Amino acid sequence: MQLQEEKYHILKQYFGYDEFREGQELLIDSVLGGQDTLGIMPTGAGKSVCYQIPALLFPGITLVISPLISLMKDQVGALNQLGVHAAYLNSSLTANQYYKALNYARNNRYKIIYVAPERLLTEEFLTFAMEAEISMVAVDEAHCVSQWGQDFRPSYLKIVEFVEKLPKRPVISAFTATATKEVRDDIIDILMLITPTVLTTGFDRKNLYFGVLQPKDKFQVVRDYVNSRRSDSGIIYCATRKVVEEVCQRLKSDGIPVTRYHAGLGDKERRENQDDFIYDRSPVMVATNAFGMGIDKSNVRYVIHYNMPKNIENYYQEAGRAGRDGEPAECLLLYSGKDVVTNQFFIDNNTDNQELDPVTLAIVQERDRERLRKMTFYCFTNDCLRDYILRYFGEYGENYCGNCSNCLSQFETVDVAEIALCLVECVKSCGQRYGVNVIIDTVHGANTAKIRNYRMDGNPNYGRLAKEPVYKLRQVINHLLLNEYLAVTNDEYAVVKLTEKSEDVLACNVQITMKMAKVQERQTKEKKGK
Ligand code: ADP
Ligand code: ZN
Repeated sequence: MQLQEEKYHILKQYFGYDEFREGQELLIDSVLGGQDTLGIMPTGAGKSVCYQIPALLFPGITLVISPLISLMKDQVGALNQLGVHAAYLNSSLTANQYYKALNYARNNRYKIIYVAPERLLTEEFLTFAMEAEISMVAVDEAHCVSQWGQDFRPSYLKIVEFVEKLPKRPVISAFTATATKEVRDDIIDILMLITPTVLTTGFDRKNLYFGVLQPKDKFQVVRDYVNSRRSDSGIIYCATRKVVEEVCQRLKSDGIPVTRYHAGLGDKERRENQDDFIYDRSPVMVATNAFGMGIDKSNVRYVIHYNMPKNIENYYQEAGRAGRDGEPAECLLLYSGKDVVTNQFFIDNNTDNQELDPVTLAIVQERDRERLRKMTFYCFTNDCLRDYILRYFGEYGENYCGNCSNCLSQFETVDVAEIALCLVECVKSCGQRYGVNVIIDTVHGANTAKIRNYRMDGNPNYGRLAKEPVYKLRQVINHLLLNEYLAVTNDEYAVVKLTEKSEDVLACNVQITMKMAKVQERQTKEKKGK
């Protein structure tokens, strides 16, 4: 009972909030009750206080394991400002600073210590930890233990080894924004959580509008959008540094106060640009996905993805930086076919998993290709976008949210059985040897060197759907893939294959219908785009 009151007291006194948000209280109670705890909440939901408040109530020290130096600095800075004694121990400290901090820690100066996972098993740190009273180990970004997670960190595997060395096992709490079952199970297994309380709060962010556009001129869309919201703060995510530079430069020359962020800039400039954005000196930030982790800006009114990200996890996390204050905000994704190619290149060249052995790498790449496909489907679906995302994370939405570009467009249900039949026949007749583009080009009757080389111009289906626009053919084939009437191999060739359900299409045993934009609307949209 007393803890109950103190919990509220701390929330108010230190953090300045009157009420807990969804899930926070339950997680805090579980931790305070000495129970291992896994909290799965979307970015911005408020995971930090779930371990920071118990940390202040526990008799001993809380160690927070965190993957990013910048994240630690920000959190520790914020805590000290709130009057909480906290420190971080990572490679950004000089040897001298490090020993000083450890010494303070020995003298019980800190309630909360952020530690980089690589430090846990070092001799100095272990010696300290063995003698200290450690009440809790809180694992932030806990999905980093999982090879199925998007950013696996081998150093996270040291956490368990560390805990096992401690004379008394502390409470372990873990937090992540990744909700998939594989990752959740991995966290519980690998961190060896004992009968943990597991809480997933809703992933739905009702105040966010989701939209997908496939404009001819992306830049023009961005410029018009930004211009129409001059007083708002927004982020424009781009796939590469080069695109960041380009978009930033062009917006600047249009007189829009923008700043930029990517890994190619020096520390100082990055820090300055980030601050300019956070303190509203530059309302628009053009950045790669290096920007945003640990950034707490509540009034971002829109997040535009200039390029499609490589998976829904990344997309939702980045888009989710809009509207943290709960006020309406917009998340737009500007799709183009090139984005798929860029991402495929990233995956094939393993641009972010340097340390993996060949076997693991192959598994990871296979998984990444599958995720990229699901991301691509997002750009093509005509169903509710929010529903699509929630389903991806294993939640069930309602099929109609009224706040996404699909729910707000008028569609008609179109019978696509004939197109489907032709596509599936084409896959069959070519011996299941080619990818989506070749199939589409064949049925559309494209006269390209590739089609001639593959002798697909002699295929019985060649040109059979010449009258249908390529965009529609692509939508239908995506629909077939999404519903397993066809499949693609998970290797870099992405070859289209038949499935058990293909037979039904070939035998005309199934109705295949899908939502498509009304023809008239499509035409006006296209005109506008010109
Ligand atoms: P996460 O780690 O889940 O992404 P944070 O812990 O950084 O989220 O919290 C996001 C924002 O929500 C922060 O600005 C934080 O101060 C704020 N916040 C957390 N708990 C509450 C609460 N109970 N009421 C209001 N704001 C809160
Ligand atoms: Zn919707």
